[in-house]
Amino acid sequence: MTSQSESTPKKMYWSDSVRGTTQCPDCQAALIPQQHSYLMVLRHGESMDSQIVGSVGGHFCPACPVVVLERARFDEYAATSRAAGTASDYVVLGLVDLSAVPEDKSRLPFDEVDNPLPLIMFTNLHQNRETRRS
Ligand SMILES: [Zn+2]
Repeated sequence: MTSQSESTPKKMYWSDSVRGTTQCPDCQAALIPQQHSYLMVLRHGESMDSQIVGSVGGHFCPACPVVVLERARFDEYAATSRAAGTASDYVVLGLVDLSAVPEDKSRLPFDEVDNPLPLIMFTNLHQNRETRRS
């Protein structure tokens, strides 16, 4: 099931660059924790490795397209990933709407042509990358 709000592009904030995960940094509404999957890209020097992580750690605003991600939780996802060994950095590109994948394709690997990943990109990635902690 996909609600209207889940397929809307989201603006993402890290919990440690706003005031935690209880209040929306844009409209001050109370955030709602929701389980979701995310596309994370780990960087190893010159190469990148993407993987789907989740499901906890996202706090969604019921009033506007904002999601606040728990930094510690995503640090953990990055650290425990199969590719963590040499990863120096990671970026969370967006939400993966696994419910949008047709049943007959849900067991297949994602493929850009036959089984595209239902990615809902974050709209402010650029900003976030600039303000990452080191
Ligand atoms: Zn909001």
